[in-house]
Amino acid sequence: MICVWAKQALLPSGWAKDVRVDIGPDGRIKTVTTDAPEAGDRFGLLLPAPVNAHSHGFQRAMAGLTERRGPDPKDSFWTWRQLMYRFLQKLDPDHIEAITAMAQMEMLEAGYAASVEFHYLHHQPGGLPYANIAETSARIAAAAAQTGIGLCLVPVKYQFGGCDGRALGAGQDRFGNDADRFAALHAGAVAGLSGLPPDRAHGAAPHSLRAVSQQDLRSFADRFPAGPLHIHLAEQIPEVVEVQRNWGARPVEWALDNIGLDDRWCAIHCTQMTPEETLRLARSGTVAGLCPITESSLGDGIFDGVRWLDQGGAIAIGSDSNIRIALSEELRTLDYSQRLRDHSRAALAAHDRSTGRRLYDSVLTGGARASGRDTGALEAGRWADMLALDAASEHLAVRNGDALLDSWIFAADDRLVTDVWSAGRHMVKDGRHIHRAPLVRAYCRAIEELKDAL
Ligand SMILES: [Zn+2]
Repeated sequence: MICVWAKQALLPSGWAKDVRVDIGPDGRIKTVTTDAPEAGDRFGLLLPAPVNAHSHGFQRAMAGLTERRGPDPKDSFWTWRQLMYRFLQKLDPDHIEAITAMAQMEMLEAGYAASVEFHYLHHQPGGLPYANIAETSARIAAAAAQTGIGLCLVPVKYQFGGCDGRALGAGQDRFGNDADRFAALHAGAVAGLSGLPPDRAHGAAPHSLRAVSQQDLRSFADRFPAGPLHIHLAEQIPEVVEVQRNWGARPVEWALDNIGLDDRWCAIHCTQMTPEETLRLARSGTVAGLCPITESSLGDGIFDGVRWLDQGGAIAIGSDSNIRIALSEELRTLDYSQRLRDHSRAALAAHDRSTGRRLYDSVLTGGARASGRDTGALEAGRWADMLALDAASEHLAVRNGDALLDSWIFAADDRLVTDVWSAGRHMVKDGRHIHRAPLVRAYCRAIEELKDAL
């Protein structure tokens, strides 16, 4: 039994004082007691730790290397595509494991307890499957075993190079599967999770409207009846134009009318929606998986968070390309994007909750749903996903209640995160992952081997 005590904690009922959390050997919270005498490991400020709802772990190695322009100034993806192509010629399963473990370690240090890995890099360079068809999925699981993050693995079906059903292009050969091969891969990937602790989870994903057939999209939920379903949706204007030209409807419009989107689904990005689409998608129960730092980095556009939350829409956040892994910064970037567009302040605050509190509450609930994980609150029965903030920090001095969250998110950063537990596994202590040194060494070794491709 693990016992954690905090001077202040955020509970489902609100802020509480002198809170004792007892965690069972199964990693679930056994009891939460308020006004309890000091006991066990003591902390100033305890919060539920959210889920990172969207990640491509291997992309962490490319962070910071695509900030130059190619020969055509209008083609903003040129540098990114060139790098990705070179990189994917070289990247092997050992590299995938080491880079993903590094990213997961940084997620834990940022305050995330769990991660949804949207995993589409399945095969060898050239497109042949590995001897174990789910080899790269097994490496994501191996990374999670090393870092202790709560993993929700989402194997991704990717088949075509565009909405017209054309073949995959150069550099996409490692992603592709037809229906049968994807079914085998998915089963293998799920079997490969069996060595992880019981908080592991899995889902399934059609990559996007461009990468799978209409028929496939319509039947996907029935073919994968367990766990959350994820999809990239309405990220950029060229995608809207392509779907509209080929299928006669905008992406969100088409998805709403054909896929049966509901609360099992997490639609990633949704930056290109009309007000009408925003209302319909929010009401469908679909979680919007927002990746504000990556969306800023790629110039995708701005999600309509004000309208979405006012409709009761659910949101989760994800680090996506992993160009930065920073929990407080994702939330800050999301709100700042709304302010810049609307010339407003405290854009996502509610009448009874500050901006930070509403954002934090929202991503706790949405992240739990998007990951099929029993998390999102400090209460008995749920996984003990928790983080402690440095209550002695000058940035939190004389703050109480919601102002603590606001000051962390808007006036400080993740350096305030001192301790993180994932399903009771105490993986971050004093701001550092407990296996940081070997994980960083393995990452640097992988990068050194890949340096000619980077
Ligand atoms: Zn993505």
